[in-house]
Amino acid sequence: MPRSELRARDSLERHAGLRVDGARLLRCLDELAAIGSDPAGGITRLGLSPQEHAARTYLRDLCAAAGLEAETDPAGNLLVRRPGTPRRAVPVLLVGSHVDTVVQGGRLDGAYGVVAAIEVLRVLHEHDVDLPVEMVAVAFANEEGALIQTPFWGSHALCGSLEDGLAAKDRAGRPVSAYLAQTGGDPDRLAEAAWPPGSVAAFLELHIEQGPTLERLGVPIGVVDGIVGRTILDIEVVGEAQHAGTTPMRDRRDALVAAAEIILAVQRVAAEQGVCATATTGYVEAHPNVTNTITGHVRLTAEVRDTDPDRIARGEAAVRAECAQVAAASGCAVEVEIGMRSRPVSTAGPLRDVIREAAETLDLPHLTMPSGAGHDAQIVARVAPIGMIFVPSKQGVSHAPGEDTAPGDLVHGTNVLLHAVLGAQTAVGLHGDHVGDV
Ligand SMILES: [Zn+2]
Repeated sequence: MPRSELRARDSLERHAGLRVDGARLLRCLDELAAIGSDPAGGITRLGLSPQEHAARTYLRDLCAAAGLEAETDPAGNLLVRRPGTPRRAVPVLLVGSHVDTVVQGGRLDGAYGVVAAIEVLRVLHEHDVDLPVEMVAVAFANEEGALIQTPFWGSHALCGSLEDGLAAKDRAGRPVSAYLAQTGGDPDRLAEAAWPPGSVAAFLELHIEQGPTLERLGVPIGVVDGIVGRTILDIEVVGEAQHAGTTPMRDRRDALVAAAEIILAVQRVAAEQGVCATATTGYVEAHPNVTNTITGHVRLTAEVRDTDPDRIARGEAAVRAECAQVAAASGCAVEVEIGMRSRPVSTAGPLRDVIREAAETLDLPHLTMPSGAGHDAQIVARVAPIGMIFVPSKQGVSHAPGEDTAPGDLVHGTNVLLHAVLGAQTAVGLHGDHVGDV
């Protein structure tokens, strides 16, 4: 057994009784929730906005007071280290999430994973825990892409996969560089936000589930086995706009009726046929959208998701087949094009084991489950093994002001994260080996 692994096992045993400071964690979450609080309800703390910057500033000051070293990188990511943690050439265990929200979002999506990572780092620092692979906490900038429409901006930048980053802009056309310069980033040094290959030994992300499964089953900890991939199909239905009073029913080519048939068929593909995990029409645009005119033209989307790429492909094929049938039956022309594809991502088996062991150390039941939502972890998965921990969401509510998790569950999840950080030290390939000069 390598010396570093012996050191790690020894450390794991000695620190089995270590726990996070739950009251401190909850207080920090409350304080963070005040930043970007929206008078209309919920929290509006959009990525790369002054509100996200204020959240980073609050966390940076809190870390400095705790004796940790915090800095904002050129892309706007907040990075927090224990003093003495090497900056370069040694792989680290990266742990975190994001602090931006959607418009009128919740207080926990992303923020929980960041505050928990900082709490874990504080506990490790206070107890002077010797880690062969040092931990770095991260708050990725602009995960949601609600203002600057490049979701996963910060994780892409850190992983070196941000393509043409400075071309990003808001809906009004204001470039990302203007936002970055005002929020602690540096557009001129954006490329320097990328870490050298091999410098992330592994990534752990703690997040609220954003769905109802854990709460329904009464299980406090979710061990994520994969993050769904998705395909969005852009569908165009062309019929004939005619007078709604004078055109006999049998003579119509009503594009909205055809679109309605497609929408129901999309739902059946997942709900009744079980071809893929979910299938959704979220966008419909009808023309001319006039009360007394038969609809001539409809644009809509069909989005299919699953953790299995074959099932995504079968979902797509099923939607296409239904569209062809509707076209034949309705006399409308139906065209289907790919709007977007993303591949599903698996978490690393050894990290899933580490998370399960951490939950068992703490006597917490756990459930292995997929993530139906996207996360920064899916971007980091391109450069390092990832692990994800879920805690229950009350009534499954997320991206809304009502987003909540029981305080006890928030503390449990953070303790699991702490023990996963300790346990990850012995996981495959995490022995603090140097990656060479950079
Ligand atoms: Zn999130």
